[in-house]
Amino acid sequence: MRFSALKVLTEGLTGNRGWLAHWRDPEPAEAYDIVIIGGGGHGLSTAYYLAKEYGLKRIAVLERGYIGGGNIGRNTTIVRANYFLPGNSEFYSHSLKLWEGLEADLNYNVMHSQRGQIGLFHSDGQRDAAIRRANSIRNRGDDAELLSVAQLRKMVPYLDYDQGRFPIYGGLLQRRAGTARHDAVAWGYARGADRLGVDLIQNCEVTGLDIVQGVVRGVQTSRGPIGAKKVAMVVAGRSSQVAAMAGMRLPIESHVLQAFVTEGLKPCIDHVISFGMGHFYISQSDKGGLVFGGDLDMYASYAARGNLPMVEHVAEAGMTLMPMIGKARMLRSWGGIMDMTPDGSPIIDKTHIEGLYLNAGWCYGGFKAVPASGHCFAHLLATDRPHAAAARFRLDRFRSGRGLMDEEGTGAQHNLH
Ligand SMILES: Cc1cc2nc3c(=O)[nH]c(=O)nc-3n(C[C@H](O)[C@H](O)[C@H](O)COP(=O)(O)OP(=O)(O)OC[C@H]3O[C@@H](n4cnc5c(N)ncnc54)[C@H](O)[C@@H]3O)c2cc1C
Repeated sequence: MRFSALKVLTEGLTGNRGWLAHWRDPEPAEAYDIVIIGGGGHGLSTAYYLAKEYGLKRIAVLERGYIGGGNIGRNTTIVRANYFLPGNSEFYSHSLKLWEGLEADLNYNVMHSQRGQIGLFHSDGQRDAAIRRANSIRNRGDDAELLSVAQLRKMVPYLDYDQGRFPIYGGLLQRRAGTARHDAVAWGYARGADRLGVDLIQNCEVTGLDIVQGVVRGVQTSRGPIGAKKVAMVVAGRSSQVAAMAGMRLPIESHVLQAFVTEGLKPCIDHVISFGMGHFYISQSDKGGLVFGGDLDMYASYAARGNLPMVEHVAEAGMTLMPMIGKARMLRSWGGIMDMTPDGSPIIDKTHIEGLYLNAGWCYGGFKAVPASGHCFAHLLATDRPHAAAARFRLDRFRSGRGLMDEEGTGAQHNLH
C-alpha cells in the first residue's frame, strides 16, 4: 500500500475501507541472518537500511513491548545538526541530510518541520562560544546564523529580554533544524522495513544471548530461542542490562529524562527555543500543545516516569524565560530512560564477541540521530567496517582515549554539565 493524494481521495470517497495494516505480525522464525534487539527508532532504521541498501532479507527486529513504546515515542522531537566537535558534527550533518529526504524515501509523512532552532545566549562568554560553534557548523557546510537582540525581538517577541539575572544577549539560529512527529518516525521505518521483508516481532523480550566459544549463535526470548549469525543490541536505556547478558560492563548509566505538554493552544511559538541559562527548551506541536523539557533527573534509574521536583524545576526555568507560559495549563509529563555515556557521544561498534554488535549511548539526543544511526549501523553490520560518518564512535575510546569526543564535557558525572 503506497500513500498518495489519489489514494487519500479514493479512500475518502469509498468509506476508507482499503487501508491496510502498516506491517505484518509474523511468528518468529527459527533463525535469521541478523537479529536486532530493540524496536525503537535506531533498531527500526537499522533494519530498514540493511534491507534497502544491502538487499539483506533474513532480518528480525525483536521488541519486548510494542513499536514506538520506548524513547522514540517519548522524546521532544527536536532535529538539528549544530554539534561542534569533530566526530559528532559530521555524523549529525549526515543525519540531517537523511531527514531532508526521509518522507519521500519512506513514502510516509513523519511531519518533519524545518521551523528553525534558536539557542539563546546570555553573557559575553556564551556569545563567544556561540560564534565559535557557528563558524564550525558553517565550515562543515551546514547553516548557522547569529541573531542580534533586535532580530530576536522581531522573531520571538514573547521572551523576557530584560530579565534581571539572565538578560538575553542574542541567539544562534539553525534554520534547517526543527521537529518531526516522533512516533510517525518509528511507524514509517517499521512499515518500510516490513515492506522489504523484515520480520517485526513485538512482545518478544530477549532474555539471554547464546554465545559459544566467543561467537554469538542467537538469542533466548520470551517466545523461545531464535538463532542468528549476527546480533545487534539497540536497546537505548536498557543497553547495560542486555550487554550484561554477554558478560559485558558498558560505560553507560541509565538516567530518566522528562518532558511536558500543555493543553492545545493557537499557534504562538513557531521555532524551537533553548534557554542558555536554565534547563528549558520548547516548541509547539502541530496539535497546539507546548512541548518542553529540561534536564536529567540526575540519578541512575529505570523508572520511565516523571516526578514533581523536575516539574517544578522546568516550570521555573520556563517562567523565567517566557512568563506568558504561566497562563498555559500543563496536561501531562512523562519520562524515558537515557543511555548516558561519560562523553555524551554514542557507540556504534563491534564487541569483543564475534557477531555481536552494539549501538548505544545516545544520551538525550538520539532522536535526531535515528536516520544516520541506522544508516551507519547497517553499514557496519553488513560490511564489518565502520561508516565514515560514525568512524569515531568506537567502544574502546573509553579505555584508550582515542577519538574521544567530549560534547558534554562532564566526564563520568552527568550532574556536572
Ligand atoms: C523526554 C525525552 C526527550 C527527548 N528529546 C529529544 C530531542 O528533542 N531530540 C533528540 O534528538 N533526542 C531526544 N531524546 C532522546 C531520544 O529519544 C533517544 O536518544 C532515542 O529515542 C533512543 O533510541 P531508540 O529510539 O532506539 O530508543 P527506544 O525507543 O527506547 O528503543 C529501544 C527499544 O528496546 C526495547 N528493549 C529493551 N530491552 C529489550 C529486550 N531485552 N528485548 C527486546 N527489546 C528490548 C525497548 O522496549 C525499546 O522499545 C529525548 C528522550 C526523552 C526521554
